[in-house]
Amino acid sequence: MTSHTSPAQIIDGLALSKQLRADVTQRVQALKARGITPGLAVILVGENPASQVYVRNKVKGCEDCGFHSVLEKYDADLTEAALLARIDALNRDPAIHGILVQLPVPKHIDANKVIEAISPAKDVDGFHIASAGALMTGMSGFVPCTPYGCMKMLESIGYDLRGKHAVVIGRSNIVGKPMALLLLQKNATVTICHSATRDLKALTLQADVIVAAVGKRNVLTADMVKPGAVVLDVGMNRNPEGKLCGDVDFEGVRQVASYITPVPGGVGPMTITMLLVNTLESAERSA
Ligand code: NAP
Repeated sequence: MTSHTSPAQIIDGLALSKQLRADVTQRVQALKARGITPGLAVILVGENPASQVYVRNKVKGCEDCGFHSVLEKYDADLTEAALLARIDALNRDPAIHGILVQLPVPKHIDANKVIEAISPAKDVDGFHIASAGALMTGMSGFVPCTPYGCMKMLESIGYDLRGKHAVVIGRSNIVGKPMALLLLQKNATVTICHSATRDLKALTLQADVIVAAVGKRNVLTADMVKPGAVVLDVGMNRNPEGKLCGDVDFEGVRQVASYITPVPGGVGPMTITMLLVNTLESAERSA
Protein backbone atom coordinates (compact mmCIF):
# COMPACT_ATOMS: atom_id res chain seq x y z
CA MET A 1 0.00 0.00 0.00
CA THR A 2 2.67 2.50 -0.94
CA SER A 3 1.96 3.60 -4.51
CA HIS A 4 -1.38 5.21 -4.83
CA THR A 5 -3.29 7.24 -7.37
CA SER A 6 -7.09 6.99 -6.99
CA PRO A 7 -9.16 8.42 -4.13
CA ALA A 8 -9.26 6.41 -0.92
CA GLN A 9 -11.70 3.61 -0.42
CA ILE A 10 -14.26 4.38 2.24
CA ILE A 11 -14.45 2.08 5.25
CA ASP A 12 -18.21 2.09 5.73
CA GLY A 13 -18.97 1.89 9.45
CA LEU A 14 -22.70 1.50 8.83
CA ALA A 15 -22.28 -1.49 6.51
CA LEU A 16 -19.74 -3.16 8.79
CA SER A 17 -21.99 -2.49 11.80
CA LYS A 18 -24.88 -4.11 10.00
CA GLN A 19 -22.83 -7.28 9.44
CA LEU A 20 -21.58 -7.41 13.01
CA ARG A 21 -25.01 -6.66 14.47
CA ALA A 22 -26.54 -9.52 12.42
CA ASP A 23 -24.08 -11.85 14.16
CA VAL A 24 -24.89 -10.28 17.54
CA THR A 25 -28.63 -10.79 16.93
CA GLN A 26 -28.07 -14.47 16.16
CA ARG A 27 -26.02 -14.98 19.29
CA VAL A 28 -28.69 -13.17 21.34
CA GLN A 29 -31.27 -15.63 20.00
CA ALA A 30 -29.05 -18.55 21.00
CA LEU A 31 -28.69 -17.15 24.52
CA LYS A 32 -32.41 -16.49 24.78
CA ALA A 33 -33.04 -20.12 23.89
CA ARG A 34 -31.06 -20.93 27.04
CA GLY A 35 -33.21 -18.55 29.07
CA ILE A 36 -30.82 -15.59 29.18
CA THR A 37 -31.51 -12.19 27.63
CA PRO A 38 -28.50 -9.87 27.53
CA GLY A 39 -29.33 -6.74 29.49
CA LEU A 40 -27.78 -3.27 29.31
CA ALA A 41 -28.52 -0.45 31.74
CA VAL A 42 -27.79 3.04 30.47
CA ILE A 43 -27.77 5.90 32.97
CA LEU A 44 -28.00 9.51 31.92
CA VAL A 45 -27.71 12.32 34.43
CA GLY A 46 -28.73 15.79 33.26
CA GLU A 47 -29.84 17.22 29.96
CA ASN A 48 -26.70 17.31 27.79
CA PRO A 49 -28.22 17.30 24.25
CA ALA A 50 -25.36 15.31 22.65
CA SER A 51 -25.57 12.73 25.45
CA GLN A 52 -29.32 12.39 24.89
CA VAL A 53 -28.68 11.48 21.25
CA TYR A 54 -25.93 8.98 22.18
CA VAL A 55 -28.02 7.17 24.79
CA ARG A 56 -31.01 7.03 22.46
CA ASN A 57 -28.85 5.40 19.77
CA LYS A 58 -27.38 2.95 22.27
CA VAL A 59 -30.80 1.90 23.54
CA LYS A 60 -32.13 1.60 19.99
CA GLY A 61 -29.13 -0.57 19.04
CA CYS A 62 -29.96 -2.83 21.98
CA GLU A 63 -33.61 -3.14 21.06
CA ASP A 64 -32.83 -3.87 17.40
CA CYS A 65 -30.62 -6.81 18.43
CA GLY A 66 -33.09 -8.26 20.94
CA PHE A 67 -31.39 -7.13 24.15
CA HIS A 68 -33.16 -6.13 27.30
CA SER A 69 -32.28 -2.48 27.82
CA VAL A 70 -33.06 -0.05 30.59
CA LEU A 71 -32.61 3.69 30.18
CA GLU A 72 -32.54 5.55 33.47
CA LYS A 73 -32.68 9.33 33.21
CA TYR A 74 -32.02 11.51 36.22
CA ASP A 75 -32.16 15.24 36.80
CA ALA A 76 -28.86 17.11 36.84
CA ASP A 77 -29.11 17.59 40.61
CA LEU A 78 -28.95 13.84 41.35
CA THR A 79 -26.49 13.38 44.21
CA GLU A 80 -23.32 11.38 43.77
CA ALA A 81 -24.40 9.10 46.63
CA ALA A 82 -27.72 8.36 44.93
CA LEU A 83 -25.97 7.54 41.66
CA LEU A 84 -23.47 5.24 43.39
CA ALA A 85 -26.35 3.49 45.19
CA ARG A 86 -28.13 2.95 41.88
CA ILE A 87 -24.96 1.49 40.31
CA ASP A 88 -24.58 -0.81 43.31
CA ALA A 89 -28.12 -2.13 42.78
CA LEU A 90 -27.45 -2.71 39.07
CA ASN A 91 -24.19 -4.51 39.90
CA ARG A 92 -26.27 -7.02 41.86
CA ASP A 93 -29.13 -7.29 39.32
CA PRO A 94 -28.80 -10.61 37.45
CA ALA A 95 -30.86 -9.31 34.50
CA ILE A 96 -28.21 -6.68 33.81
CA HIS A 97 -24.94 -7.69 32.12
CA GLY A 98 -23.65 -4.26 31.19
CA ILE A 99 -23.80 -0.88 32.95
CA LEU A 100 -23.02 2.35 31.22
CA VAL A 101 -23.07 5.80 32.74
CA GLN A 102 -23.07 8.33 29.93
CA LEU A 103 -20.24 10.84 30.35
CA PRO A 104 -19.85 13.67 31.07
CA VAL A 105 -21.66 13.65 34.43
CA PRO A 106 -22.52 16.97 36.13
CA LYS A 107 -19.59 18.68 37.86
CA HIS A 108 -20.65 17.82 41.44
CA ILE A 109 -20.27 14.11 40.60
CA ASP A 110 -16.78 12.56 40.49
CA ALA A 111 -16.67 10.66 37.17
CA ASN A 112 -13.80 8.47 38.35
CA LYS A 113 -15.75 7.37 41.41
CA VAL A 114 -18.68 6.49 39.17
CA ILE A 115 -16.51 4.50 36.75
CA GLU A 116 -14.84 2.59 39.57
CA ALA A 117 -18.22 1.83 41.18
CA ILE A 118 -19.29 -0.27 38.20
CA SER A 119 -18.47 -3.95 38.64
CA PRO A 120 -15.57 -4.85 36.27
CA ALA A 121 -17.73 -7.83 35.18
CA LYS A 122 -20.34 -5.36 33.85
CA ASP A 123 -17.96 -2.62 32.66
CA VAL A 124 -18.99 -2.83 29.00
CA ASP A 125 -17.56 0.64 28.29
CA GLY A 126 -14.16 -0.69 29.35
CA PHE A 127 -13.32 2.41 31.42
CA HIS A 128 -12.77 0.78 34.84
CA ILE A 129 -9.13 0.59 35.95
CA ALA A 130 -9.47 -3.20 35.99
CA SER A 131 -10.38 -3.12 32.28
CA ALA A 132 -7.64 -0.59 31.53
CA GLY A 133 -5.13 -2.71 33.44
CA ALA A 134 -6.19 -5.85 31.58
CA LEU A 135 -5.69 -4.10 28.26
CA MET A 136 -2.33 -2.73 29.38
CA THR A 137 -1.06 -6.16 30.47
CA GLY A 138 -2.62 -8.21 27.67
CA MET A 139 -5.17 -9.98 29.84
CA SER A 140 -8.80 -10.48 28.87
CA GLY A 141 -11.20 -7.70 29.77
CA PHE A 142 -13.63 -5.29 28.17
CA VAL A 143 -12.02 -3.16 25.48
CA PRO A 144 -13.30 0.45 25.18
CA CYS A 145 -15.85 0.51 22.39
CA THR A 146 -14.46 3.27 20.15
CA PRO A 147 -10.90 1.93 19.75
CA TYR A 148 -12.32 -1.60 19.58
CA GLY A 149 -14.49 -0.45 16.66
CA CYS A 150 -11.46 1.11 14.97
CA MET A 151 -9.61 -2.21 15.22
CA LYS A 152 -12.58 -4.00 13.65
CA MET A 153 -12.50 -1.50 10.80
CA LEU A 154 -8.82 -2.26 10.15
CA GLU A 155 -9.60 -5.97 10.36
CA SER A 156 -12.41 -5.53 7.81
CA ILE A 157 -9.94 -4.36 5.16
CA GLY A 158 -7.52 -7.16 6.01
CA TYR A 159 -4.90 -4.71 7.20
CA ASP A 160 -1.82 -6.30 8.76
CA LEU A 161 -0.43 -3.91 11.38
CA ARG A 162 2.77 -5.84 12.02
CA GLY A 163 5.75 -3.51 11.67
CA LYS A 164 3.58 -0.62 10.49
CA HIS A 165 3.92 2.84 11.97
CA ALA A 166 0.66 3.97 13.57
CA VAL A 167 0.21 7.53 14.76
CA VAL A 168 -2.59 8.19 17.23
CA ILE A 169 -3.55 11.84 17.69
CA GLY A 170 -5.10 12.24 21.14
CA ARG A 171 -4.33 10.52 24.44
CA SER A 172 -7.62 10.35 26.33
CA ASN A 173 -8.36 7.37 28.56
CA ILE A 174 -11.39 6.47 26.47
CA VAL A 175 -9.96 6.73 22.95
CA GLY A 176 -6.31 7.66 22.38
CA LYS A 177 -4.53 5.58 25.02
CA PRO A 178 -6.49 2.33 24.57
CA MET A 179 -6.24 2.80 20.79
CA ALA A 180 -2.46 2.98 21.05
CA LEU A 181 -2.36 -0.17 23.22
CA LEU A 182 -4.52 -2.12 20.77
CA LEU A 183 -2.31 -1.12 17.84
CA LEU A 184 0.75 -2.10 19.87
CA GLN A 185 -0.84 -5.47 20.64
CA LYS A 186 -1.01 -6.05 16.88
CA ASN A 187 2.70 -5.29 16.55
CA ALA A 188 2.49 -1.80 15.09
CA THR A 189 5.11 0.75 16.10
CA VAL A 190 3.01 3.39 17.80
CA THR A 191 3.45 7.13 18.25
CA ILE A 192 1.01 8.99 20.49
CA CYS A 193 0.52 12.69 19.82
CA HIS A 194 -1.23 15.30 21.95
CA SER A 195 -1.57 19.03 22.45
CA ALA A 196 2.10 19.44 23.42
CA THR A 197 3.39 17.48 20.43
CA ARG A 198 5.89 19.48 18.44
CA ASP A 199 5.51 19.25 14.66
CA LEU A 200 2.55 16.90 14.36
CA LYS A 201 2.88 16.94 10.58
CA ALA A 202 6.42 15.55 10.65
CA LEU A 203 5.07 12.55 12.58
CA THR A 204 1.86 11.96 10.65
CA LEU A 205 3.81 12.07 7.37
CA GLN A 206 5.69 8.96 8.55
CA ALA A 207 2.52 7.08 9.43
CA ASP A 208 1.06 4.05 7.67
CA VAL A 209 -2.04 4.36 9.86
CA ILE A 210 -3.37 7.54 11.44
CA VAL A 211 -6.12 7.66 14.07
CA ALA A 212 -7.39 11.17 14.75
CA ALA A 213 -9.15 11.48 18.13
CA VAL A 214 -8.92 15.13 19.09
CA GLY A 215 -12.27 16.86 18.74
CA LYS A 216 -11.14 19.68 16.44
CA ARG A 217 -11.96 20.13 12.78
CA ASN A 218 -9.17 19.82 10.21
CA VAL A 219 -6.54 18.57 12.65
CA LEU A 220 -5.42 16.34 9.80
CA THR A 221 -5.15 17.77 6.30
CA ALA A 222 -3.94 16.24 3.02
CA ASP A 223 -0.42 17.72 3.28
CA MET A 224 0.05 15.80 6.56
CA VAL A 225 -0.69 12.36 5.12
CA LYS A 226 1.69 9.96 3.37
CA PRO A 227 0.23 8.65 0.08
CA GLY A 228 -1.49 5.32 0.70
CA ALA A 229 -1.91 5.75 4.46
CA VAL A 230 -5.03 4.44 6.22
CA VAL A 231 -6.91 7.17 8.08
CA LEU A 232 -9.45 6.59 10.84
CA ASP A 233 -11.41 9.62 12.00
CA VAL A 234 -12.82 9.39 15.53
CA GLY A 235 -13.59 13.09 15.95
CA MET A 236 -17.12 14.42 16.22
CA ASN A 237 -17.43 18.11 15.56
CA ARG A 238 -19.76 20.58 13.89
CA ASN A 239 -18.71 22.60 10.88
CA PRO A 240 -19.77 26.27 10.55
CA GLU A 241 -22.97 25.10 8.78
CA GLY A 242 -23.79 22.97 11.82
CA LYS A 243 -23.16 19.66 10.04
CA LEU A 244 -21.48 16.76 11.84
CA CYS A 245 -17.84 16.37 10.81
CA GLY A 246 -14.70 14.68 12.03
CA ASP A 247 -11.14 15.78 12.80
CA VAL A 248 -9.97 15.00 9.28
CA ASP A 249 -10.35 17.18 6.21
CA PHE A 250 -12.19 14.34 4.49
CA GLU A 251 -12.30 15.71 0.92
CA GLY A 252 -8.61 16.59 0.91
CA VAL A 253 -7.27 13.54 2.72
CA ARG A 254 -9.26 11.06 0.65
CA GLN A 255 -7.20 12.14 -2.39
CA VAL A 256 -4.04 10.93 -0.63
CA ALA A 257 -5.04 8.05 1.65
CA SER A 258 -5.75 4.47 0.56
CA TYR A 259 -8.59 4.00 3.05
CA ILE A 260 -10.54 6.52 5.09
CA THR A 261 -13.50 6.48 7.48
CA PRO A 262 -16.23 9.09 6.95
CA VAL A 263 -18.02 11.17 9.59
CA PRO A 264 -20.90 10.48 9.96
CA GLY A 265 -21.18 6.78 9.11
CA GLY A 266 -17.71 5.70 10.21
CA VAL A 267 -16.41 5.16 13.72
CA GLY A 268 -19.65 6.41 15.39
CA PRO A 269 -21.88 3.44 14.51
CA MET A 270 -19.00 1.05 15.19
CA THR A 271 -18.74 2.38 18.76
CA ILE A 272 -22.33 1.39 19.48
CA THR A 273 -21.86 -1.95 17.74
CA MET A 274 -18.91 -2.80 19.99
CA LEU A 275 -20.95 -1.82 23.03
CA LEU A 276 -23.48 -4.44 21.94
CA VAL A 277 -20.69 -6.97 21.41
CA ASN A 278 -19.27 -6.28 24.89
CA THR A 279 -22.69 -6.60 26.52
CA LEU A 280 -23.42 -9.82 24.66
CA GLU A 281 -20.05 -11.24 25.69
CA SER A 282 -20.72 -10.28 29.29
CA ALA A 283 -24.03 -12.16 29.15
CA GLU A 284 -22.37 -15.15 27.47
CA ARG A 285 -19.74 -15.21 30.21
CA SER A 286 -22.38 -15.12 32.92
CA ALA A 287 -24.29 -18.00 31.30
P1 NAP B 1 -10.46 14.49 24.81
O1 NAP B 1 -10.55 13.76 26.08
O2 NAP B 1 -10.83 15.92 24.75
O3 NAP B 1 -9.01 14.29 24.23
C1 NAP B 1 -8.57 15.00 23.11
C2 NAP B 1 -7.11 14.74 22.90
O4 NAP B 1 -6.65 15.51 21.80
C3 NAP B 1 -6.22 15.14 24.10
O5 NAP B 1 -5.31 14.11 24.36
C4 NAP B 1 -5.51 16.41 23.61
O6 NAP B 1 -4.21 16.55 24.12
C5 NAP B 1 -5.43 16.16 22.13
N1 NAP B 1 -5.29 17.40 21.36
C6 NAP B 1 -5.96 18.56 21.52
N2 NAP B 1 -5.56 19.46 20.62
C7 NAP B 1 -4.60 18.85 19.87
C8 NAP B 1 -3.81 19.27 18.78
N3 NAP B 1 -3.94 20.50 18.25
N4 NAP B 1 -2.92 18.40 18.28
C9 NAP B 1 -2.79 17.16 18.78
N5 NAP B 1 -3.54 16.71 19.81
C10 NAP B 1 -4.43 17.55 20.34
O7 NAP B 1 -11.42 13.81 23.71
P2 NAP B 1 -11.85 12.28 23.49
O8 NAP B 1 -12.89 11.92 24.47
O9 NAP B 1 -10.66 11.42 23.31
O10 NAP B 1 -12.59 12.44 22.08
C11 NAP B 1 -11.90 12.92 20.95
C12 NAP B 1 -12.91 13.15 19.84
O11 NAP B 1 -13.52 11.92 19.51
C13 NAP B 1 -14.06 14.09 20.20
O12 NAP B 1 -14.44 14.79 19.05
C14 NAP B 1 -15.16 13.15 20.60
O13 NAP B 1 -16.45 13.71 20.42
C15 NAP B 1 -14.91 12.04 19.64
N6 NAP B 1 -15.44 10.74 20.07
C16 NAP B 1 -16.11 10.04 19.14
C17 NAP B 1 -16.59 8.81 19.44
C18 NAP B 1 -17.32 8.05 18.39
O14 NAP B 1 -18.01 7.10 18.71
N7 NAP B 1 -17.17 8.40 17.13
C19 NAP B 1 -16.39 8.27 20.71
C20 NAP B 1 -15.65 9.00 21.64
C21 NAP B 1 -15.16 10.24 21.30
P3 NAP B 1 -3.90 16.78 25.69
O15 NAP B 1 -4.04 15.42 26.32
O16 NAP B 1 -2.51 17.27 25.70
O17 NAP B 1 -4.91 17.75 26.18
